[in-house]
Amino acid sequence: MKLTVLGNTGPYPKAGGACSGYLLENGDSKVVLDMGNGTLANLRTICDIEDITAVICSHLHPDHISDLFVLRYALEMRGMTIPLYAPDSPDKEFDRLSYKNVFDLTPITEDLKLEIGGMTFSFMEMRHPLKDFAIKAYDGKSTFMYTGDTAMCQALEEFTKGVDVLLCDSAFLDDVDSAIHLSMEKAIQNANNAGVRRLILTHFSPEISPQRYYEIGNGRFNGRLSKAEIMANFTI
Ligand SMILES: [Zn+2]
Ligand SMILES: [Zn+2]
Repeated sequence: MKLTVLGNTGPYPKAGGACSGYLLENGDSKVVLDMGNGTLANLRTICDIEDITAVICSHLHPDHISDLFVLRYALEMRGMTIPLYAPDSPDKEFDRLSYKNVFDLTPITEDLKLEIGGMTFSFMEMRHPLKDFAIKAYDGKSTFMYTGDTAMCQALEEFTKGVDVLLCDSAFLDDVDSAIHLSMEKAIQNANNAGVRRLILTHFSPEISPQRYYEIGNGRFNGRLSKAEIMANFTI
């Protein structure tokens, strides 16, 4: 699998930046994980809209889904429908995704298992003000996981077990206790406890450079630490 970062901040972008969005590829399959503001423009530097296999959204906060509302025009103009997987809550936000049936919409549950392009996807609900699912992908060799937005919780610890590469919310540079996001310290602790091989920090504050997170976090993680810079790619 190959991961490319399309956006890396929340809950709003820095100058010239983009909020959460990642492209996960396996062979010709292209699965987009979250589609925050600015990510569609970055995705289009890599592939055509016709090449998108599916979109999976961790949760329905605007910094993770806002470009879906412009992608739908591009799909409508091409007469295309693509699969979209997202939590069904809040109702009003979920209903907004059913515009002209350009998305073949499936609610995410913990029971959902998807086979897309040689990857098996599974899901577990995390801890966030909106219903948020961590997304796991296994290609028969390696396991990748993206947390979406989450605070520290038992479900996160459970789901991280056996993960090779973890793309993880680390919104707070300082080790604050939060019911919304992880601090970098908690992201590193959780990854260390699970024996993760590579930790990719993301969901940075738009007011702090990713390099600052990396400098402070490096040396505390037992595996290889990376930062999700826009357009960086990682082999998984
Ligand atoms: Zn967010
Ligand atoms: Zn959120």
